[in-house]
Amino acid sequence: MTTAGPAITLTPRQPGRALRETQGATTGGALVFEAAGLSKRYPNGADALRAVDLRISRGEMVGLLGPSGAGKTTLLRLAGAAAWPTSGSLRVLGEDVFSLRGGRLRALRRRVATIAQQHSLIPRVTAQQNVLLGLAGGRPLWSSLRSALAPSDGERAAAHRALASLNIGEALDRPVDSLSGGQQQRVAVARALLQGGELVLADEPVASVDQETAEQILAVLRHLVDEEGRTVLVSLHQRALAMRFCTRIVTLARGAVVYDGPADETASDAASDGERPAL
Ligand code: ADP
Ligand code: MG
Repeated sequence: MTTAGPAITLTPRQPGRALRETQGATTGGALVFEAAGLSKRYPNGADALRAVDLRISRGEMVGLLGPSGAGKTTLLRLAGAAAWPTSGSLRVLGEDVFSLRGGRLRALRRRVATIAQQHSLIPRVTAQQNVLLGLAGGRPLWSSLRSALAPSDGERAAAHRALASLNIGEALDRPVDSLSGGQQQRVAVARALLQGGELVLADEPVASVDQETAEQILAVLRHLVDEEGRTVLVSLHQRALAMRFCTRIVTLARGAVVYDGPADETASDAASDGERPAL
């Protein structure tokens, strides 16, 4: 969608429920994500994000909702320093993402695990090798290639544990292109588990899987929050799943935050507002 006007369109948020009280207040912990006035206009004129203000604290699991085209993927790509904004600022894990270059940018990327919408597994390579390549984030390429091609017992065990936690331990030695879409999705999640990032960004990780698998994947992500103190930002299409597994829900519509609040039943009506397609 194209909107005429200046690059920064200050679209006011709809009066949300207790927006300020809920922002980043769930745990009172350190901020891991802090966007201010974050806007992104693509070269074709699409305003994917319009002055987004969003603060996420350590230990939150934030479900990002909103209709297709709302800006979820763009927000996650900016968070992972995979795209640049038109204006605004973003601090991730205390770093000013868009001023970082070279080694400091790579160092930040190592602290963020990403599960992309196109999960970009390497075909004809086994599930185990794909998972071990996830270690690339933390080490030189030659080192992760060595792990993938000639894993130590410990590495093999870690890959198996990650796959088994997602119920696909048996896929360890199978090439990923022989797996179903849902199994491939779980391999991508397992790879992110081994990456060990403090912040986990997951773009519709349950879009192509059945309900049971979706619940399993979200339970694993929630485990990262509850047991390992990581922070998860996950885009989802099903509000019911977000309500069940997330601690907080942020709804985007046409690039703006239209709801931000706790993931509990009393919030469900307000959270759904932004999901209605614009007329
Ligand atoms: P979502 O993930 O919620 O579906 P996106 O972030 O993919 O939303 O897209 C937000 C808006 O930006 C949409 O209008 C989309 O068409 C546009 N958009 C996304 N990626 C690009 C791109 N690479 N080039 C141009 N427009 C884009
Ligand atoms: Mg998307």
